[in-house]
Amino acid sequence: MGLTQISDHLSTISPRDQKFDHKKLNNLKVAELYKGGELDGHEGFMYGKKPVLFVNLAKRMGWCGEWLEFAQGEDGACKLIGAKFCKVPNCPMCQWRRCLVWRAKFFSQLPAIAEEYPKHRWVFLTLTQRNCQLSELRDTVKHMGDSFNRMRSLTDFPLLGWVRSLEVTRVYDWYDANNNFIGRHGVTWWFRQTDKTRNQWRVLPTDEVHPHYHFLALVSPSYFSGSTYVTQQRWSEMWSQSLRVNYPTVVHIRTLKANKGRTLLPDPDQVLNSDRADQVKDPTGIFTAICETMKYTVKEQDLVGQFCKDDQANSQWLRDLTQQLYKMRRIEFGGILKPFSKGIVDSESNNQSLIKGGDDRESTMKVQRTFVVRWNNAIKKYVTLASHVDTDQDE
Ligand SMILES: [Zn+2]
Repeated sequence: MGLTQISDHLSTISPRDQKFDHKKLNNLKVAELYKGGELDGHEGFMYGKKPVLFVNLAKRMGWCGEWLEFAQGEDGACKLIGAKFCKVPNCPMCQWRRCLVWRAKFFSQLPAIAEEYPKHRWVFLTLTQRNCQLSELRDTVKHMGDSFNRMRSLTDFPLLGWVRSLEVTRVYDWYDANNNFIGRHGVTWWFRQTDKTRNQWRVLPTDEVHPHYHFLALVSPSYFSGSTYVTQQRWSEMWSQSLRVNYPTVVHIRTLKANKGRTLLPDPDQVLNSDRADQVKDPTGIFTAICETMKYTVKEQDLVGQFCKDDQANSQWLRDLTQQLYKMRRIEFGGILKPFSKGIVDSESNNQSLIKGGDDRESTMKVQRTFVVRWNNAIKKYVTLASHVDTDQDE
């Protein structure tokens, strides 16, 4: 009689929160790579006068999200209400939470943007360039920023406002099942391949990375009808010219659909309750574009070296990448969207904000109970500490 203790998995109590298991697992993999096993001679770097030690990053990541507190409503739905996040730049747990914050906060600005610019149209633009050496990444990213500023001053530059994000992908040499060289690509390429033997392909690391920009941007209502329209080829010319390179750069431009000149916004509830674009009814594609723009700088698969078995190479890559990108701005607002950036980019350093995932609405949940889960490294899952259920209801 009395209180019975039940221990349970978070993934059983709340299937939609099982991604916490996945994020914590990858968080620990990255922490392990920062520690670097037997690596020596590369313990950290100086940022200005401040030493950044990899072992400290690993320590912080170790306690990141070690425990999580949830509230559970009458309908069984759970909501994170407490946690401590480490905010290490490449922590898979933190970068996931940070993206949720960016997306949710930007999404909540869309009605205000639509009110001020009701007839403007959204476009999604990707500007790429040739790979660079990882050791030249920082300089390359600075050069990209300067180049974009040059491009802005071209007379036919059509973007009036934008959110710009930097993405850096790791570049591998891919070999097929028979050990034939297939090409030099990132992991995104692999996911797009339909070849049945692709699971047997393997990679060798290279010292190249692929930095590129994504933009979600507004153009004038007359962009598609007037003489201001910019073709894909012209985009490429503008970007090559601004980068001061003599090869045609690869550029993608996509116009988001509009209904009678307006962008239809998806249901905020759906947006806040899902972190996958394909789970949201998104008639004009704006949410998909937000997800593609407001995301991590480096993919989790690259951070953990999912396709590369050489953990010494993975560790070295992660350390060099961290140094190259340290404190670099990942997301930037410009033009007429700049006034809407308030509270978005600076919110990422706030632990409370990471807990809420950017959902600042007043909660309507009728809380039935709260519970705490702790990471169990033996079974690689979050489990409840102690959930007390009263078995003496009839007394
Ligand atoms: Zn973290």
